[in-house]
Amino acid sequence: MNTVVFFQELEQLPQAAAFFKLDAFHHQTVPVKMHMGEPGNKYFSQPSLAKPMVQVLREAGATPFLTDTTAAYPGPRHTKEGYLAVAQRHGFTLQSVGCNVVIDDTGVPTTVEGRVFEVATQLHQAKAMVALSHVKGHIQTGMGGAIKNFGMGGVTKESKIALHHGSRPVYRKDMCTHCGVCAEACPFDAIKVKEESWSLAKGTCFGCGVCVNVCAQKALLYQDADLQFLLACSTKACVQGKTVLYLNEVKRIARGCDCDPGAGPVICPDVGYLLAMDPVAVDAASLDLVHKVKPDVFEKVSKISPWKQIKFGEEIGLGSSSYSLVEL
Ligand code: SF4
Ligand code: SF4
Repeated sequence: MNTVVFFQELEQLPQAAAFFKLDAFHHQTVPVKMHMGEPGNKYFSQPSLAKPMVQVLREAGATPFLTDTTAAYPGPRHTKEGYLAVAQRHGFTLQSVGCNVVIDDTGVPTTVEGRVFEVATQLHQAKAMVALSHVKGHIQTGMGGAIKNFGMGGVTKESKIALHHGSRPVYRKDMCTHCGVCAEACPFDAIKVKEESWSLAKGTCFGCGVCVNVCAQKALLYQDADLQFLLACSTKACVQGKTVLYLNEVKRIARGCDCDPGAGPVICPDVGYLLAMDPVAVDAASLDLVHKVKPDVFEKVSKISPWKQIKFGEEIGLGSSSYSLVEL
């Protein structure tokens, strides 16, 4: 069973890390994967989270560096140079965190469950890695944590786009009763239903899968698969065969993702930090602890169950949701 260590103060990180064997990090160059913040977003994890982890890694004999990938959508994080400038503005510098910051824009094709994901080159090359993940709500996956951090954030722009497109709906006219339920449920107003017609504004559809889930007639199918399944696959492409330490920061739990400048408001009081070596266990434990404070808060806000990524992660062998919680 996985050990998940739960603690309240970052000063306790070395004590929490002592529960895990970090031999695999010795003499390794270790990417520390984290989102370094979209301009305008107020909730993303700060350099103060990275700094003590960098220290823990140095003490384990590793050479760490902070890393993330370029964003698929237009904006300052779309290019390496633009993202580096944003990271510096947000305080992610050699001086403040104690290691270099590398933004990756290239990938290596890796196949999982018959699908090809371009894993960021820096991640692909590593034998041992760390994920620093901010746990918050997400409009397409209910919650974003460790699985979302690698699943979307660990791959190239091209793979990010393919992930989103893969979970768009395909319409089966013969099955449709034109009830309009999908149009009412779509959070992005991308579907229009009239008496005899159904249409999708592809430019507006984010591939959240809500419409596919609510159609009782099974008139909507995924172009490929549920986004949470694809994210679990993509995460497996990033981490398989490697030793990975996962730190989830379950604080400033906003309604929306770190890439959303208008992600607020905060929807749940702070919970704390969780450390584990399994992405499924650390996300399952984060969800359990959030739900103790605010039952089903993510599903109530986004209408999407975040448990799907846990279930899919287990199904494809990414990890296990069974864990024992050690509280410091
Ligand atoms: S929910 Fe299904 S049956 Fe109803 S309009 Fe949408 S696609 Fe058609
Ligand atoms: S996948 Fe989501 S955004 Fe796209 S049409 Fe369906 S409900 Fe709307």
